[in-house]
Amino acid sequence: MTGLFDMNDASGPPLPNARRPAAERSELLLWTHERLTAAYGPRPLVPRREPMHELISTVLSQRTDWRNEDLAYQELRQLGDWDTIASLPVEPVAHAIRASTYPEQKAPRIQATLKAICELRGDYDLDFLQDLTPQEGLKWLTALPGVGVKTSSLVLLFNFAKPVFPVDTHVHRITSRVGAIPKMGEGPAHKALLALLPPDPPLLYELHINLLRHGQQVCSFSNPKCGKCVLRERCDAYAEYGDHVPSFVKG
Ligand code: SF4
Repeated sequence: MTGLFDMNDASGPPLPNARRPAAERSELLLWTHERLTAAYGPRPLVPRREPMHELISTVLSQRTDWRNEDLAYQELRQLGDWDTIASLPVEPVAHAIRASTYPEQKAPRIQATLKAICELRGDYDLDFLQDLTPQEGLKWLTALPGVGVKTSSLVLLFNFAKPVFPVDTHVHRITSRVGAIPKMGEGPAHKALLALLPPDPPLLYELHINLLRHGQQVCSFSNPKCGKCVLRERCDAYAEYGDHVPSFVKG
């Protein structure tokens, strides 16, 4: 619908959210948080698993549902302690995580991550991250081979209650469609969304989890169920496309 969001047309419909000033997009995210919490309930910030488990499982979770992620993790741990897993040939590690997608790519990445942690720290205890600032923690984790900003942010927020905001595919899709951020990739969206949100770990956690829920149940990659969506009244994509929001194309 070309021209629906004409910025020069004062008599037309409101500007799309993505073009609004940062303060207004911050308010939109807080409203989104309120709406999703009302829909899906509160989500207290309680670590769900220990930091190494969170780190390795997040690598396994890429393009993998949670059941297969858990299956791959459990079978990986059957191989022995982290030292043993790091020093095995790659084939048995790839075989152990075969429930996950791309096991032959993930296995050497996981082994490289384990070796780097042990070389840098002498063991696999990540509790020292608690004493680092969020920026220091992100810098340390993203320097590990095979560990990106999403995985690092998950570990820092979920395990150490640091004020960072993990952006997975659901978070990226919904915040883009609503118009909290303009079109951009998942990586840059971490910084853009964090700049719009308060440094409040419980809120960041609750928003992340409920966006995930909403992405799984309502705002899906294709054919989102806008008719059931609690964000519809302020969603850029719905304003433009109505009940025919197209499949999401990443920036
Ligand atoms: Fe997604 Fe539709 Fe809801 Fe917008 S209105 S957030 S496109 S489900």
